[in-house]
Amino acid sequence: MADRLLNKVAIITGGASGLGLATAARFVEEGASVVVTDKDEDRLDGAFGNISNIKPMDRRYQDVTDELGWSELIEYVLSEYGCLDILVNNAGIVIRGTAEDTTISDWRKTQEVNLDAVFMGTRAAIGAMKPSGGSIVNISSIEGMVGEATTAAYNASKGGVRIFTKSAALHCASQKYHIRVNSIHPGFIRTPMIDNALATMPSDEVEALLLRMENEIPLGSMGHPEDIANGCLYLASDESKYVTGAELVIDGGYTCR
Ligand code: NAD
Repeated sequence: MADRLLNKVAIITGGASGLGLATAARFVEEGASVVVTDKDEDRLDGAFGNISNIKPMDRRYQDVTDELGWSELIEYVLSEYGCLDILVNNAGIVIRGTAEDTTISDWRKTQEVNLDAVFMGTRAAIGAMKPSGGSIVNISSIEGMVGEATTAAYNASKGGVRIFTKSAALHCASQKYHIRVNSIHPGFIRTPMIDNALATMPSDEVEALLLRMENEIPLGSMGHPEDIANGCLYLASDESKYVTGAELVIDGGYTCR
Protein backbone atom coordinates (compact mmCIF):
# COMPACT_ATOMS: atom_id res chain seq x y z
CA MET A 1 0.00 0.00 0.00
CA ALA A 2 1.16 3.59 -0.53
CA ASP A 3 -0.11 7.13 -0.07
CA ARG A 4 -1.69 6.51 3.33
CA LEU A 5 -0.08 9.78 4.47
CA LEU A 6 -0.21 11.64 1.17
CA ASN A 7 0.27 15.42 1.58
CA LYS A 8 0.74 15.13 5.33
CA VAL A 9 3.56 16.87 7.16
CA ALA A 10 5.12 15.05 10.11
CA ILE A 11 7.72 15.70 12.79
CA ILE A 12 9.43 12.69 14.35
CA THR A 13 11.73 13.33 17.32
CA GLY A 14 14.71 11.11 18.10
CA GLY A 15 14.54 9.99 14.49
CA ALA A 16 18.24 9.38 13.90
CA SER A 17 18.04 5.86 15.25
CA GLY A 18 15.93 2.82 16.02
CA LEU A 19 12.16 3.23 16.12
CA GLY A 20 12.14 6.89 15.03
CA LEU A 21 14.28 6.17 11.99
CA ALA A 22 12.12 3.22 10.92
CA THR A 23 8.98 5.33 11.41
CA ALA A 24 10.40 8.18 9.33
CA ALA A 25 11.21 5.81 6.46
CA ARG A 26 7.72 4.23 6.65
CA PHE A 27 5.99 7.65 6.67
CA VAL A 28 7.94 8.77 3.61
CA GLU A 29 7.02 5.54 1.79
CA GLU A 30 3.38 6.46 2.43
CA GLY A 31 3.70 9.94 0.95
CA ALA A 32 4.38 12.18 3.97
CA SER A 33 6.89 15.00 4.18
CA VAL A 34 8.89 14.20 7.28
CA VAL A 35 11.02 16.45 9.46
CA VAL A 36 13.27 14.18 11.50
CA THR A 37 14.85 15.71 14.58
CA ASP A 38 17.53 14.46 16.96
CA LYS A 39 20.04 15.91 19.37
CA ASP A 40 22.80 13.68 17.98
CA GLU A 41 23.94 15.46 14.83
CA ASP A 42 26.44 12.79 13.78
CA ARG A 43 23.84 10.07 14.11
CA LEU A 44 21.35 12.19 12.20
CA ASP A 45 23.84 12.73 9.36
CA GLY A 46 24.74 9.02 9.38
CA ALA A 47 21.11 7.97 9.26
CA PHE A 48 20.45 10.21 6.32
CA GLY A 49 23.32 8.57 4.49
CA ASN A 50 21.47 5.25 4.78
CA ILE A 51 18.12 6.46 3.58
CA SER A 52 19.15 9.28 1.29
CA ASN A 53 17.41 7.55 -1.62
CA ILE A 54 14.06 8.22 0.04
CA LYS A 55 12.72 11.76 -0.34
CA PRO A 56 11.32 14.06 0.90
CA MET A 57 13.01 13.88 4.25
CA ASP A 58 14.22 16.86 6.19
CA ARG A 59 16.44 16.89 9.26
CA ARG A 60 16.78 19.32 12.11
CA TYR A 61 18.97 19.34 15.16
CA GLN A 62 16.77 19.43 18.28
CA ASP A 63 17.22 18.69 21.95
CA VAL A 64 13.64 17.89 22.94
CA THR A 65 14.25 19.17 26.49
CA ASP A 66 14.79 22.72 25.18
CA GLU A 67 11.50 24.64 25.38
CA LEU A 68 12.57 27.41 23.01
CA GLY A 69 13.74 24.77 20.53
CA TRP A 70 10.15 23.54 20.26
CA SER A 71 8.87 27.00 19.24
CA GLU A 72 11.69 27.32 16.71
CA LEU A 73 10.98 23.88 15.24
CA ILE A 74 7.25 24.55 14.87
CA GLU A 75 7.96 27.95 13.33
CA TYR A 76 10.35 26.31 10.84
CA VAL A 77 7.86 23.61 9.86
CA LEU A 78 4.98 26.06 9.41
CA SER A 79 7.05 28.45 7.33
CA GLU A 80 8.64 25.69 5.23
CA TYR A 81 5.63 23.34 4.81
CA GLY A 82 2.61 25.51 5.66
CA CYS A 83 1.12 23.13 8.26
CA LEU A 84 1.79 20.34 10.73
CA ASP A 85 -0.38 17.21 10.60
CA ILE A 86 1.55 14.65 12.66
CA LEU A 87 3.93 14.69 15.62
CA VAL A 88 5.58 11.50 16.87
CA ASN A 89 7.13 12.16 20.28
CA ASN A 90 9.67 9.35 20.07
CA ALA A 91 12.97 10.58 21.58
CA GLY A 92 13.76 8.75 24.79
CA ILE A 93 16.48 7.45 27.05
CA VAL A 94 16.78 4.67 29.58
CA ILE A 95 19.00 4.88 32.65
CA ARG A 96 18.96 1.70 34.68
CA GLY A 97 18.42 1.89 38.46
CA THR A 98 16.08 0.60 41.15
CA ALA A 99 13.83 2.53 43.54
CA GLU A 100 16.70 2.25 46.02
CA ASP A 101 19.78 3.16 44.01
CA THR A 102 18.58 5.63 41.35
CA THR A 103 20.20 9.03 41.84
CA ILE A 104 18.05 12.14 41.78
CA SER A 105 20.05 13.38 38.82
CA ASP A 106 19.32 10.20 36.79
CA TRP A 107 15.69 10.41 37.87
CA ARG A 108 15.35 14.05 36.73
CA LYS A 109 17.24 13.50 33.46
CA THR A 110 14.92 10.61 32.60
CA GLN A 111 11.76 12.61 33.34
CA GLU A 112 13.13 15.59 31.43
CA VAL A 113 13.70 13.68 28.19
CA ASN A 114 10.94 11.06 28.37
CA LEU A 115 8.09 13.00 29.98
CA ASP A 116 8.66 16.78 30.15
CA ALA A 117 9.62 16.85 26.46
CA VAL A 118 6.51 14.88 25.46
CA PHE A 119 4.42 17.48 27.27
CA MET A 120 6.25 20.38 25.57
CA GLY A 121 6.01 18.73 22.15
CA THR A 122 2.33 17.96 22.55
CA ARG A 123 1.59 21.50 23.70
CA ALA A 124 3.51 23.01 20.81
CA ALA A 125 1.90 20.70 18.26
CA ILE A 126 -1.62 21.44 19.54
CA GLY A 127 -0.96 25.13 18.89
CA ALA A 128 0.17 24.41 15.34
CA MET A 129 -2.53 21.84 14.53
CA LYS A 130 -5.55 23.75 15.85
CA PRO A 131 -6.55 25.28 12.51
CA SER A 132 -6.82 22.02 10.58
CA GLY A 133 -6.50 19.11 13.02
CA GLY A 134 -3.85 16.43 13.33
CA SER A 135 -2.51 13.39 15.10
CA ILE A 136 -0.03 13.23 17.97
CA VAL A 137 1.57 9.87 18.72
CA ASN A 138 3.44 9.54 22.01
CA ILE A 139 5.89 6.66 22.31
CA SER A 140 5.49 5.23 25.79
CA SER A 141 6.47 1.59 26.52
CA ILE A 142 5.06 -1.55 28.06
CA GLU A 143 7.14 -0.25 30.97
CA GLY A 144 4.58 2.51 31.28
CA MET A 145 2.04 -0.21 32.07
CA VAL A 146 3.95 -2.82 34.08
CA GLY A 147 6.85 -2.33 36.47
CA GLU A 148 10.42 -3.57 36.29
CA ALA A 149 12.63 -3.48 39.38
CA THR A 150 15.70 -2.14 37.57
CA THR A 151 14.13 0.74 35.63
CA ALA A 152 12.37 2.84 38.26
CA ALA A 153 12.81 6.24 36.62
CA TYR A 154 12.01 4.89 33.16
CA ASN A 155 8.83 3.18 34.46
CA ALA A 156 7.69 6.45 36.04
CA SER A 157 8.39 8.51 32.93
CA LYS A 158 6.61 6.13 30.56
CA GLY A 159 3.63 5.77 32.93
CA GLY A 160 3.45 9.56 32.90
CA VAL A 161 3.39 9.63 29.10
CA ARG A 162 0.57 7.09 29.07
CA ILE A 163 -1.80 9.10 31.27
CA PHE A 164 -0.74 12.55 30.02
CA THR A 165 -1.72 11.36 26.54
CA LYS A 166 -5.28 10.73 27.71
CA SER A 167 -5.52 14.17 29.32
CA ALA A 168 -4.33 15.84 26.11
CA ALA A 169 -6.73 13.71 24.03
CA LEU A 170 -9.69 14.76 26.19
CA HIS A 171 -8.69 18.41 26.06
CA CYS A 172 -8.40 18.43 22.27
CA ALA A 173 -11.73 16.61 21.90
CA SER A 174 -13.48 19.00 24.29
CA GLN A 175 -12.19 21.97 22.31
CA LYS A 176 -13.24 20.35 18.99
CA TYR A 177 -9.72 20.76 17.62
CA HIS A 178 -9.85 17.56 15.54
CA ILE A 179 -6.53 16.63 17.05
CA ARG A 180 -6.15 13.02 18.19
CA VAL A 181 -3.56 12.04 20.81
CA ASN A 182 -2.61 8.39 21.36
CA SER A 183 0.19 6.38 22.92
CA ILE A 184 2.15 3.41 21.63
CA HIS A 185 3.59 0.83 24.02
CA PRO A 186 6.40 -1.12 22.40
CA GLY A 187 7.69 -4.29 24.01
CA PHE A 188 11.26 -5.44 23.44
CA ILE A 189 12.47 -4.20 20.08
CA ARG A 190 16.10 -4.63 19.06
CA THR A 191 17.43 -1.08 18.63
CA PRO A 192 20.59 0.77 19.78
CA MET A 193 18.73 1.63 23.01
CA ILE A 194 18.41 -2.05 23.91
CA ASP A 195 21.95 -2.82 22.68
CA ASN A 196 23.38 0.00 24.84
CA ALA A 197 21.52 -1.27 27.90
CA LEU A 198 22.77 -4.82 27.23
CA ALA A 199 26.33 -3.51 26.82
CA THR A 200 26.35 -2.48 30.49
CA MET A 201 25.74 -6.11 31.58
CA PRO A 202 28.14 -9.09 31.77
CA SER A 203 27.90 -11.24 28.61
CA ASP A 204 26.62 -14.39 30.38
CA GLU A 205 23.81 -12.32 31.89
CA VAL A 206 23.01 -10.87 28.48
CA GLU A 207 22.69 -14.33 26.93
CA ALA A 208 20.47 -15.54 29.78
CA LEU A 209 18.32 -12.42 29.53
CA LEU A 210 17.87 -12.72 25.77
CA LEU A 211 16.94 -16.37 26.12
CA ARG A 212 14.47 -15.59 28.89
CA MET A 213 12.92 -12.80 26.84
CA GLU A 214 12.43 -15.06 23.85
CA ASN A 215 10.83 -17.69 26.07
CA GLU A 216 8.57 -15.17 27.77
CA ILE A 217 7.38 -13.39 24.63
CA PRO A 218 4.33 -15.37 23.41
CA LEU A 219 5.14 -14.68 19.75
CA GLY A 220 8.63 -16.09 20.39
CA SER A 221 11.05 -13.27 19.55
CA MET A 222 11.89 -9.61 20.01
CA GLY A 223 10.13 -7.21 17.66
CA HIS A 224 11.53 -5.22 14.75
CA PRO A 225 11.49 -1.40 14.47
CA GLU A 226 9.11 -1.76 11.50
CA ASP A 227 6.50 -3.29 13.83
CA ILE A 228 6.36 -0.03 15.76
CA ALA A 229 6.60 2.07 12.59
CA ASN A 230 3.45 0.37 11.28
CA GLY A 231 1.61 1.17 14.52
CA CYS A 232 2.67 4.81 14.23
CA LEU A 233 1.48 4.82 10.63
CA TYR A 234 -1.99 3.63 11.62
CA LEU A 235 -2.35 6.23 14.39
CA ALA A 236 -0.93 9.00 12.19
CA SER A 237 -3.21 8.24 9.24
CA ASP A 238 -6.90 9.03 8.83
CA GLU A 239 -7.64 5.30 9.16
CA SER A 240 -7.62 5.90 12.92
CA LYS A 241 -9.91 8.94 12.74
CA TYR A 242 -12.13 7.55 15.56
CA VAL A 243 -9.20 6.67 17.85
CA THR A 244 -8.05 9.05 20.56
CA GLY A 245 -6.66 8.60 24.07
CA ALA A 246 -5.94 4.98 23.17
CA GLU A 247 -2.99 2.74 24.08
CA LEU A 248 -1.61 0.63 21.25
CA VAL A 249 0.44 -2.21 22.74
CA ILE A 250 2.91 -3.80 20.30
CA ASP A 251 4.80 -6.40 22.31
CA GLY A 252 4.38 -9.88 20.85
CA GLY A 253 1.86 -10.62 23.60
CA TYR A 254 4.35 -10.04 26.44
CA THR A 255 1.93 -8.16 28.68
CA CYS A 256 -1.15 -10.30 27.97
CA ARG A 257 -0.75 -12.38 31.10
P1 NAD B 1 17.36 4.73 20.30
O1 NAD B 1 18.32 4.97 21.39
O2 NAD B 1 17.76 3.84 19.18
O3 NAD B 1 16.86 6.11 19.67
C1 NAD B 1 16.49 7.19 20.49
C2 NAD B 1 16.91 8.46 19.80
O4 NAD B 1 16.51 9.55 20.64
C3 NAD B 1 18.43 8.58 19.60
O5 NAD B 1 18.74 8.87 18.25
C4 NAD B 1 18.83 9.72 20.52
O6 NAD B 1 19.91 10.50 20.03
C5 NAD B 1 17.54 10.52 20.60
N1 NAD B 1 17.48 11.37 21.79
C6 NAD B 1 17.78 11.03 23.07
N2 NAD B 1 17.66 12.11 23.86
C7 NAD B 1 17.27 13.15 23.08
C8 NAD B 1 16.99 14.51 23.30
N3 NAD B 1 17.11 15.07 24.52
N4 NAD B 1 16.60 15.28 22.26
C9 NAD B 1 16.49 14.75 21.03
N5 NAD B 1 16.78 13.47 20.73
C10 NAD B 1 17.15 12.67 21.75
O7 NAD B 1 16.05 4.17 21.02
P2 NAD B 1 14.75 3.42 20.44
O8 NAD B 1 14.79 2.03 20.94
O9 NAD B 1 14.56 3.69 19.01
O10 NAD B 1 13.63 4.17 21.30
C11 NAD B 1 12.74 5.12 20.76
C12 NAD B 1 11.60 5.33 21.74
O11 NAD B 1 10.92 4.08 21.93
C13 NAD B 1 12.05 5.78 23.12
O12 NAD B 1 11.12 6.71 23.64
C14 NAD B 1 12.00 4.50 23.93
O13 NAD B 1 11.83 4.74 25.31
C15 NAD B 1 10.82 3.80 23.31
N6 NAD B 1 10.80 2.35 23.51
C16 NAD B 1 11.77 1.55 22.97
C17 NAD B 1 11.69 0.18 23.18
C18 NAD B 1 12.70 -0.79 22.61
O14 NAD B 1 12.62 -1.98 22.92
N7 NAD B 1 13.62 -0.36 21.78
C19 NAD B 1 10.67 -0.36 23.96
C20 NAD B 1 9.72 0.49 24.49
C21 NAD B 1 9.78 1.86 24.25
